[in-house]
Order: sequence, then C-alpha cells, then structure tokens
Amino acid sequence: MNGFERIILVAFDQLNLDHGAMARANPATDLVVLIESQRMLTNRNWHPERLFFMVSSARHFAQDARDRGFTVDYRQAATTPEGLKAVWAEHGKRPTLAAQPASFEQARQFQELGVETVETDFFLTPRSLFLGWAEQQKTYVMENFYRLQRVRLDILMDAGKPVAGRWNFDEDNRLPPPKSYAWPPRLTHTRDDIDLEVAHQLAHKATDTWATTRAGAMQALSHFIEHNLAGFGPLEDASTNDDWSLHHSLLSPYLNVGLLHAREVIDAAVAAFEKGLAPIQSVEAFVRQIIGWREYINGMYWFLGEDYAKGNGLEANRKLLPLFTDSTKTRMNCVGSIVSDVEKRAWVHHIPRLMILSNLALLTSTNPQEFLDWMRENFIDASQWVMVPNVIGMGVHADGGRLMTKPYAAGGAYINRMTQYCKGCVYDPKLRVGENACPFTTLYWDFLDRHRETFSRNHRMGQQLTGLNRLSDLPELKLRAKTVLAGLDQGSI
Ligand SMILES: Cc1cc2nc3c(=O)[nH]c(=O)nc-3n(C[C@H](O)[C@H](O)[C@H](O)COP(=O)(O)OP(=O)(O)OC[C@H]3O[C@@H](n4cnc5c(N)ncnc54)[C@H](O)[C@@H]3O)c2cc1C
Ligand code: SF4
Repeated sequence: MNGFERIILVAFDQLNLDHGAMARANPATDLVVLIESQRMLTNRNWHPERLFFMVSSARHFAQDARDRGFTVDYRQAATTPEGLKAVWAEHGKRPTLAAQPASFEQARQFQELGVETVETDFFLTPRSLFLGWAEQQKTYVMENFYRLQRVRLDILMDAGKPVAGRWNFDEDNRLPPPKSYAWPPRLTHTRDDIDLEVAHQLAHKATDTWATTRAGAMQALSHFIEHNLAGFGPLEDASTNDDWSLHHSLLSPYLNVGLLHAREVIDAAVAAFEKGLAPIQSVEAFVRQIIGWREYINGMYWFLGEDYAKGNGLEANRKLLPLFTDSTKTRMNCVGSIVSDVEKRAWVHHIPRLMILSNLALLTSTNPQEFLDWMRENFIDASQWVMVPNVIGMGVHADGGRLMTKPYAAGGAYINRMTQYCKGCVYDPKLRVGENACPFTTLYWDFLDRHRETFSRNHRMGQQLTGLNRLSDLPELKLRAKTVLAGLDQGSI
C-alpha cells in the first residue's frame, strides 16, 4: 500500500488536465486512473478509426499527465468495474473522484461503483441552468436559448446588443457549393509510437486525419482559424463531392473527448474576428454552433431523459439497409459517396448526416434505434448525449416532434440544389416515377402519403400536403416506391 489519498478516475471523454476532476487533482496525493475496458472495445461493431482515436487519445493523455508529475495507472481490464476493483485492490480503496459523466448509462455505473462526481465543466452551461430554461419553454427553440447564451456569456455583444446589430446572418449564409472553388488545405497528423502501438493492437491502419494528442488538437484549432473560419458561414450548409470537409472545423472529436474546451475554441474565433481576420457572418455562424447547438443538444439530452432514445413516434420498423454497412450496396451516388466517406474516416459533415443519411432512414421508415446504433458506432465524434437528440429528434423525427416541430424530409430536387452529387448519378432527381426516378424523390412523396393522417394535424406540414394532393400520378408513384424499398432492402437500388 502506498500513500495516495484519492483516486482520480478519468473517463475516455474527459481527457483534459485542466478540467473535470483533474482540475482538482494534486500530483503529490492523487493517483490518476484510466481504464481501457475490453468490453468498451468490443461491445459494439465500432468503426476501427473511432476506436483508434479513442484509445490512442487516452494513452497520450496518460503520458501528458505523467509529464505533469502525476502517477498514472492506465489499466487494461475486462470491464470498467473490474479494472477499478483491481486498482483498489492494489492501491487501497481510496475515495474515487470523477467528473460528472456524459451519459445516463455511465452516471448509473459510477453511482453503483460509489465513484463521487464533481460538476462537469466540459460544457459552458451548467445542467441545472439549462433545465431551468427548458422547463419554462413551450417549444424548445434553439434560437431563443442561443440569444440568452450570447448575453449570459457576453460573446459578440456590444453594450447589451449583438455585435453588428444582428443576432444571426443566415440570410447571407446557406449558399450552394460554388463552381471551381479552391478549397483550403487540410491538416494531416503524423503517427507517433503510441499511435503505432494502438493501431497494431487494433489491427488497424490509421488515417492521418485525426490528432490523438492535446498538441495536435490545438494545431487543428489554429489551422481552422487560419484557413477555414473566414469562409465558414456562407458555405456551412453546402455539400459537394469535390471536397469532403469544405470550411468545417473538424473539431468535434476533440471537443467531445476533452482534448479541446469549448471556451478556448470560442475565444480563438472571437479573437480572429477582433483582429479583422474573419467576417462577422462567419464568426457568428461558428459561435452559434458551439455556444448554441452544442450546448443546446447536451442540455436537451439531460432534459428529455433516458427513455427519449427509445422513441419511435412514426412506427418505423424497417431493418437497417445493407448500404449503411457496405457503400457498394447502392447505386445512389449521394448515398454511396457519403457512406464511403464514413468508411474511410468515420466522419462526414452536418449536411450529409442530416440531408442524406438521416433523410434516407426517415423516408424508408428505418427503425430509429437501429439507425442510431449505426451512427453511434461509425462516427468519430459520437457520444450518447450528442447522437440521441440529433438522430432521434433532428434526424428521423422519432420523438413525436418534441425537438423539431416538423420532420426534416427532402426529395431529390432539394438535394440537387444543395449538392453536386446528382450530376454523376444513374437516377434523375426530377423524376418520381419510372426506372430512373430518384429514390429520394419517389420516397419523399410516398412518406408524406404514408403519414398523411399524422401530418394533417401539424400546421407546419400544410404546404407539403397540398403538394401531395396535387400529384396526379400517386398510384403509379406508390408502386414505384414499393419497388424502390424492396431494392434498397436487397442492396440493388
Ligand atoms: C444526425 C446527426 C448526427 C450527429 N451526430 C453528432 C455526433 O455524434 N457528435 C457531434 O459532435 N456532432 C454530431 N452532429 C452535429 C454535427 O453534424 C457535427 O458536430 C459536425 O458535423 C462536426 O464536424 P465539425 O467539427 O467540422 O463541425 P463544424 O461544422 O465546424 O461546427 C462546429 C462545432 O459545432 C458543434 N455542433 C454543430 N452542430 C451541432 C449539433 N447539432 N449537435 C452538437 N454539436 C454541434 C460541434 O461541436 C462542431 O464541432 C450530428 C448531426 C446530425 C444531423
Ligand atoms: S439523383 Fe437522387 S439518388 Fe442520385 S445523387 Fe441525386 S439525390 Fe442522390
């Protein structure tokens, strides 16, 4: 037995020396413990790049903590409880402290193990503050929460008013992808010995896309500020097959495991604005993502409760389509390209996640929990708190409209307007019937018709239902939809 007074348990999404329980840790008296549980590595069909990122980031963090003078027990065990019990057996059962977990499941586990928690500071909004806001709302409009955040956190504010006189610049943004555009250079990351060891253990050939260190994450932040922030706003909703990251920051994985903190990301963006390096419509758009959407989604996860993930308001029960697990199982250019991007690097930006992947799951009535599991397993930045509201609420409207008042359903014409995928596709986005009809276009109308009764009670769906009532070829379209759904089930559409 040695002289440690406390154990600081660092979960794999709390990898920060200055936040969470580490902010209170003392190298002289505390033992830092990380547990790499075999169960965590194998309990799901994880994307190997994601596993690599999680494990290598944790091992680098352990190294950084040692460099800061801490004694670190990085333990490999069958499960987290077994690992922790082995630590207690070796070092004595000391009071064990962690930051508040980021999911209901982990909160239960920590409680069962008797791990004490300190309030998480990985977000800018205390959970109690968000709950207080949400309890007073009739509809949970993100924009209202965001404006309060701007004032409360005093970000881009000028004597109580929004800088440049407007809260948002959406009208100047949301441009389709420009033709012949020189997309900014991308940062790559060199693999060190720890990376190589983890890649070997997982039998995975890691890409050079994702940093696995605090230093690499800081480099990614600087790269974003220098090369991408200025163009972020206008092109934030565009999607193209010319370039897979456009002006997006690629910072979500680092924010979600603790390698970066939201505060430093915001400070860097605002500093760039103050130095005149980026225009207000881009800086505001980025700030909105971080202090608005990210905080709102996290707050809503806790507000909506654990059972929210089980919602299936549209009674969608199709099994996961084969194209999600094998991009060659579709002829749809948009879906094939995007799933292939996910296969390569475990990431695509917001618009493909929403407009292509979730939209396809919604229109095909894919079971929400099967789709949620697939998203959760395949994205580098996935965590329960962020996937559940984004998929169940925003993506597939399985929550009966609690988060978004209407489903995000789009046909091929809209995808054609916002992306460049249709040019190289065997299907025609303008057609809804016939062999060459775009599956999205056919299924969009079929979906509205299947849920006609439910949507007739939603005044925000009036325009779409009027469009549906005007279709002269609905019987033919319903037949085509059957063929399309059967083809998607077989992986031949
Ligand atoms: C169906 C669906 C699933 C999603 N799953 C995840 C997920 O598992 N993990 C995740 O971090 N984001 C998720 N998002 C949100 C968003 O797509 C990603 O945050 C973004 O694509 C990450 O890339 P980026 O860092 O380049 O983002 P940028 O476009 O550069 O945006 C900056 C940051 O804003 C934050 N942000 C923006 N929108 C959201 C949002 N809706 N929810 C939470 N944070 C947001 C992220 O931290 C992101 O890094 C999901 C969105 C949808 C529609
Ligand atoms: S035609 Fe339809 S399936 Fe093909 S790329 Fe366009 S939207 Fe996707």
